[in-house]
Amino acid sequence: MAKTIYITGLGLIGASMALGIKRDHPDYEILGYNRSQASRDIALERGMIDRATDDFASFAPLADVIILTLPIKQTIAFIKELADLDLKEGVIISDAGSTKSAIVDAAEEHLAGNPVRFVGAHPMAGSHKTGAASADVNLFENAYYIFTPSSLTSPDTLEEMKDLLSGLHARFIEIDAKEHDRVTSQISHFPHILASSLMEQTAVYAQEHEMARRFAAGGFRDMTRIAESEPGMWTSILLSNRETILERIADFKERLEAIGQSISKGDEEQIWNFFNQAREQRQAMEIHKRGGVDSFYDLYVDVPDEEDVILRILELLRGTSLVNIHINEENREDVHGILQISFKNAQDLERAERLITENTDYTVVIK
Ligand code: NAD
Repeated sequence: MAKTIYITGLGLIGASMALGIKRDHPDYEILGYNRSQASRDIALERGMIDRATDDFASFAPLADVIILTLPIKQTIAFIKELADLDLKEGVIISDAGSTKSAIVDAAEEHLAGNPVRFVGAHPMAGSHKTGAASADVNLFENAYYIFTPSSLTSPDTLEEMKDLLSGLHARFIEIDAKEHDRVTSQISHFPHILASSLMEQTAVYAQEHEMARRFAAGGFRDMTRIAESEPGMWTSILLSNRETILERIADFKERLEAIGQSISKGDEEQIWNFFNQAREQRQAMEIHKRGGVDSFYDLYVDVPDEEDVILRILELLRGTSLVNIHINEENREDVHGILQISFKNAQDLERAERLITENTDYTVVIK
């Protein structure tokens, strides 16, 4: 039976979800809310949604599923508003917020007792781009789409959501909201704080030491890439996951202190162990092979420094979609090959490996 889906917030996430829903359910009617006219127009023109409004409450009673794809604070404000609206019985309400406890707690507080179902969700994909104009039907491909069930999630809620979102080609997974926030504080929120702190420290240092700017290369770039993230989103993430993040900061200070002491004692063995342990742990995590947030399938090609060599490889890959291509010109100590090509999925990676190996003499490494 065709359903009516209400996407509220036609930003990068909401508009990309609309496209993904349409892919597998072209018969579903998609309604869209956005406060600015620009994203409403883009979403209508590009066929992402069927009807648009700037009045959040007006479409809510029509929907079988309401997905809140807004900043965390606004998601909570709309959950409160939904509690007082005359919604369809059994409507599913979900969201896309990057932290989950605050949102799930708000839903349990305001929606309990209403004939609605709620399931918190966090699609772990994104980019630094914002707005409907950046929407991409493949944004969530192979990414984890995390559900955080609660007392308002009945057993059929998840099945209906997975069916609705099948066209996103994401990997669905369920986890407790608090555990979600703990895990993401370590692997996402805290690294963003570190990247921005390092960036800030270096910028100040570079005022006195001009060469710092010039010498900053591969390692520094890898460590600070995420410092270019959208500040508003990250502010709300930190503010909605305070305690857990503060714990990570305290823990990290102790680690910095410990390595500082090893250096001050001149303890060669401790310092060697520090690096060696981290290297082994990183290798064991197989970080390069993972899908999910900002993680792709990478292939490294050891290419000679000859004319047109990169063009030749790209020609072989015609028809395969590349996520990124990178030429490592810097210090090659820790890089496998000079050309790094990132793919979105394992099939594309394997195809590329086969094509390059069969048609050239270059060494191909998959890490
Ligand atoms: P975006 O900036 O592209 O879109 C945000 C949307 O919210 C826009 O439609 C904007 O008009 C609307 N909005 C903002 N403030 C509002 C307000 N006060 N009232 C009404 N509407 C308002 O952002 P996005 O990347 O699509 O993020 C949406 C949600 O998805 C956020 O909760 C974010 O934490 C989460 N998320 C983002 C990413 C990512 O990397 N971009 C990844 C996973 C989850």
